[in-house]
Amino acid sequence: MAAERDVFVRARSRTLTAFRQDDEYQWKGPFYFIQGADPQFGLMKAWAVGDTNNGDDEWGEEIKLAEQAVQAINKLNPKPKFFVLCGDLIHGMPGTQWRKDQEQDLKNVLKDTHQDIPLLFVSGNHDIGNTPTRETIEHYCSNWGDDYFSFWVGGVFFLVLNSQLYFDSSKCPELKQAQDVWLNEQLAIAEQQKCKHIIVFQHIPLFLRKPEEDHDYFNLEKSVRQELMEKFHKAGVKAVFSGHYHRNAGGSYGGLEMVVSSAIGCQLGEDTHGLRVVVVTDEKIAHRYYSLDELSSQGIEQELLAMLAEHP
Ligand SMILES: [Zn+2]
Repeated sequence: MAAERDVFVRARSRTLTAFRQDDEYQWKGPFYFIQGADPQFGLMKAWAVGDTNNGDDEWGEEIKLAEQAVQAINKLNPKPKFFVLCGDLIHGMPGTQWRKDQEQDLKNVLKDTHQDIPLLFVSGNHDIGNTPTRETIEHYCSNWGDDYFSFWVGGVFFLVLNSQLYFDSSKCPELKQAQDVWLNEQLAIAEQQKCKHIIVFQHIPLFLRKPEEDHDYFNLEKSVRQELMEKFHKAGVKAVFSGHYHRNAGGSYGGLEMVVSSAIGCQLGEDTHGLRVVVVTDEKIAHRYYSLDELSSQGIEQELLAMLAEHP
């Protein structure tokens, strides 16, 4: 069990054990990573039967899709720096009956990810509940690592946030406050260290298309969103990558790009089951969403590969 724990609980003490942090402050040239979202084991059946509260008793379809995702990633050459899963790992909410089996089945699939590709996880509303508590968050952390943390890769500063604390922290206000204090400290460190870029991962998008759009289930409440956007913008955050919407979307706020990626699992729109390839170069963050079929059969297109070959 020790080995399994190491694979899934790499985020500890608010950082990532996969990278030796003191080696990673310097820019070493372009690299890329893979972003996935919402494998959400159980949603496809629940959605099909029209019972998203109790209909999640089968997830064979999602197991196959997650396996396809892992196989596609393992074949990539060169290898991505990491694979981040932006939340809703499973469908069963805290306290519901299929949750444990869904978690175990997802781990069984993900453990085949190549050992040189660290897995990192972002907590979604289905992972810790729409209104999280200290207990649901602790349960998540013991399974998938810290709910918020930061790390450096080749001069780029990454922040993983728990967006449920911005969605509804009524049952754990002290945890929201702790994340806020930590975030401010992290952004101050980023400024001091003169990082090349700052990139954020969180499950719920700030907004889907426009910074001023109305609040609904799929984005953050407007005043919370405004505060975060301003904080990110001021700190020079280049991009926020999210899931939750089960469709591709996005927009921008000044120089801050909001990227919403569709799901590995259940689609709620016209997109395909897929993954996003994100290339980080000296000047920019370029990304493209690939269907699982396309990524497994053809890999990454020339245009993105050429960016990786640029000299630092
Ligand atoms: Zn979600």
